Amino acid sequence: MKPPPFNYVAAATVDHAVELLNGDTDARVIAGGQSLMPLLNLRLASPELVVDIGRIDALNTITVDGEGLTIGAAVTQAKVAGNTGVLGGWPLLVEAIGLIGHAQIRNRGTLCGSLAHNDPLAELPAVSIALDASVTVSGPNGERVVPIDDLLTGPFMTSLEPGELITSAHYPTLRAETGWAISEFATRTGDFATAGVVTRLIVEGGVARDSVVVLFGLGPGPQRSAVVEAAINGASTPSLSEAVLAQLDASIHPNDDVHATADARREFAARLATESVSEAWAIAEARRGGST
Ligand SMILES: Cc1cc2nc3c(=O)[nH]c(=O)nc-3n(C[C@H](O)[C@H](O)[C@H](O)COP(=O)(O)OP(=O)(O)OC[C@H]3O[C@@H](n4cnc5c(N)ncnc54)[C@H](O)[C@@H]3O)c2cc1C
Repeated sequence: MKPPPFNYVAAATVDHAVELLNGDTDARVIAGGQSLMPLLNLRLASPELVVDIGRIDALNTITVDGEGLTIGAAVTQAKVAGNTGVLGGWPLLVEAIGLIGHAQIRNRGTLCGSLAHNDPLAELPAVSIALDASVTVSGPNGERVVPIDDLLTGPFMTSLEPGELITSAHYPTLRAETGWAISEFATRTGDFATAGVVTRLIVEGGVARDSVVVLFGLGPGPQRSAVVEAAINGASTPSLSEAVLAQLDASIHPNDDVHATADARREFAARLATESVSEAWAIAEARRGGST
């Protein structure tokens, strides 16, 4: 199908984009277009004006400094994954981006666009929760910083107000001994995940702490698993007991859809949580030992 007619303007600056988004016409941001163009083509969206932020130079930057990592809203997923600073400090982002679609998608799609779109099966919202990210938002009332948990309000929903755009995503520096992992099941390589689990933890003196375990595809949106986190913190082994897996099963509400039944997703949850925790633990121990 072809999209409905719309006007297109490439914004020159963030202020210009904000002005266009707050004009008289119904306007929508386009970044990489990898989710918006399908929505337009399927006529699930019909803005009068599409505001392209991809050519705003100030948004096409990756900064690594004492504060952590900041990724501008025009930076493509491929550029994030190919950045040596990101690979050195936030390798989980690189691993997660490798699981997104195909190279063509990653060459145009942006990290911030994925957060703004908040597809419940997307990797980057779940990973951003695990990495304690925040986003900077610009709008008619100026700039504000929004923690990721406050941004992601539900499937395909965020707390962005009309006329606002995300200008960057920020990831705090991880402690050197942090371990991480993303485990997912997808029917075919490049497909959206059917279900996934992201883990971040620290192992000190053989005992885990500060764990964050995020499930996606196992409920209405990415969500932390209090059950698995409680089981890991203070534990001296990464293995999740049958009792913990039973509690995990009782805590999730997966859907049936064309990709998998809810029962299959429950099986994936147990397998992926076990795999993700154990891999993150192994990485944490290896980093402590200086071998990664
Ligand atoms: C075939 C295919 C396979 C894919 N597979 C995966 C996958 O496996 N995993 C995955 O996570 N994703 C997948 N994607 C989606 C891809 O990652 C998208 O690029 C991403 O979700 C959206 O980023 P974008 O820059 O393309 O955003 P756009 O398509 O430009 O925009 C998406 C939405 O976000 C809004 N938006 C974008 N940027 C901003 C901003 N800075 N501020 C405010 N609003 C904004 C737009 O208005 C629009 O509503 C796939 C896409 C395709 C077409």
